[in-house]
Amino acid sequence: MTVSSRDFVYEKFSDFYSDPSTVIPPPALLGQREIGFLLFKERIMLRHKVFARISDLQSFLSETVPSDVYRSCAYYENPAADMDKKGWLGADLVFDIDADHIPTSCNKIHDEWTCANSECGFSGKGVTPENCPICGGRKFDTKTWPCELCLKSAKEETSKLIDMLEKDFGFSYKEMAVFFSGHRGYHVHVENEVVKTLDAMARKEIVDYVSGLGLTIPGEKARGRSAKRRASCDFSLHDFGWNRRLKLGLQNFLLNATKEDLKAAGVKGKSATVLGNKELILKRCVEEGRWGSVKGVGVGTWKKLAEYVKDLESSKIDTVVTTDTHRLIRMNGTLHGKTGLKKVEFPLRDLEDFDPFKEAVAFKEGAVKVFVSDVPEFQLGGNMFGPYKRKTVELPTAAAILLICKGRAEVAS
Ligand SMILES: [Zn+2]
Ligand SMILES: [Zn+2]
Repeated sequence: MTVSSRDFVYEKFSDFYSDPSTVIPPPALLGQREIGFLLFKERIMLRHKVFARISDLQSFLSETVPSDVYRSCAYYENPAADMDKKGWLGADLVFDIDADHIPTSCNKIHDEWTCANSECGFSGKGVTPENCPICGGRKFDTKTWPCELCLKSAKEETSKLIDMLEKDFGFSYKEMAVFFSGHRGYHVHVENEVVKTLDAMARKEIVDYVSGLGLTIPGEKARGRSAKRRASCDFSLHDFGWNRRLKLGLQNFLLNATKEDLKAAGVKGKSATVLGNKELILKRCVEEGRWGSVKGVGVGTWKKLAEYVKDLESSKIDTVVTTDTHRLIRMNGTLHGKTGLKKVEFPLRDLEDFDPFKEAVAFKEGAVKVFVSDVPEFQLGGNMFGPYKRKTVELPTAAAILLICKGRAEVAS
């Protein structure tokens, strides 16, 4: 980012935070939270701040103008103290669903990563690996895009998560809050007295459940028994938790499955048998639990289908965020330094219709000329833009800021 581009973004962020109409909804018990900031010019984190009132924080934001604002999920006796002296009182249960962790079909087109080890520099397309396949390094420079399809996938994962939190864990809509992160995903917060004091291990159990990690697919025990025994009523899926999710998932999957879908599920040789007996399989196997009672569809096929459906039904959350009881998370109502979009809360019921590219737009006035290096077609504020490649264009402020913040454009001189 050139100095003039950075100054331009800084100035707009400054206008946003000084505007009296800007509302930053405070988290519950603001005074017990640690607040952190990323500074524009210095690119350093300012941490361990505490604000008794939201008006104090707002004055600070208009004076300091950070690129990003965070607050702890945790509550502390003394949020300003060093980590080990803070006096942890509890934390909200927080989930982060980010396109970075969802293998979409389009991320191979718009996402790139490069190993940050200067002696290696290996690069690839798509989801950033945990370790560099060449040097094993864990740091990467990434080039991603907040694409509509990716955000749609993130929304589907969010919807599955909320359904589990509601139906399997029993949290009410009142105890949950959903947010657009301002970049490539969604956050779900659960705030109630029960979750507040869960430790990292307990949170990991919840993460595993939501991700379907360590789930035993029913049918395993049937192995090694005689064929006759296997064909009898070995087990059936009951009507709650993952049993119910597998049952409904199998129904959804099988009723609409094509040969290609079955191939994706790892059922190749048996696809014709499965497709030809869809309803019988659903009735005998899924409802009655008589696996192996349909000729040619044994425990092996069932397991493959169930594993595949488990993958479809689990929610692809960022597992690290939920287990970290000291995590800082972006503050609602503040700007994302990588997009200039706001983190916004919206009613859970509106998830399906929520349009981040409309609701999260912070800059609604003015236009600016920018030189765009390379960007796919995108929509923002109800308008379509691009694709642009090495082109000078005049764009509405919000679109210009998005491209500058994503490193795809500079203010034209
Ligand atoms: Zn490497
Ligand atoms: Zn995408």
